[in-house]
Amino acid sequence: MAIDKQILEELKKALLEEKEKLEKNMNKIAKPVDDKEGDYETSFDDIGNDKDDNATEVDQYTQNLSVETALEKRLQKIIKALDKIDKGIYGVCINCQKEIPIERLKANPSSQTCNRC
Ligand SMILES: [Zn+2]
Repeated sequence: MAIDKQILEELKKALLEEKEKLEKNMNKIAKPVDDKEGDYETSFDDIGNDKDDNATEVDQYTQNLSVETALEKRLQKIIKALDKIDKGIYGVCINCQKEIPIERLKANPSSQTCNRC
């Protein structure tokens, strides 16, 4: 059973909206790597060169890095989901290859696994 076209459109819209939001947040703390979509590098702000400045920079960087890693993971999942929609293979569990229930996709359009997995 294929996913209803209208529902698919809605899910796609939700994914695109979340992607945009994530990218906005990412751009505050990181910069995109080359042309690879969804790949970011945490920015290192050079505040100053004395000892305290360097400590602050490292703290800030460490903090940004963990946020960036979490955001990037979510972004990658969204990009994958969008790619699957384009290829017409969206909504299939990556573990058991069964269809992911539509309710689960509605709750989280970037789900890659079914309820069981
Ligand atoms: Zn499964």
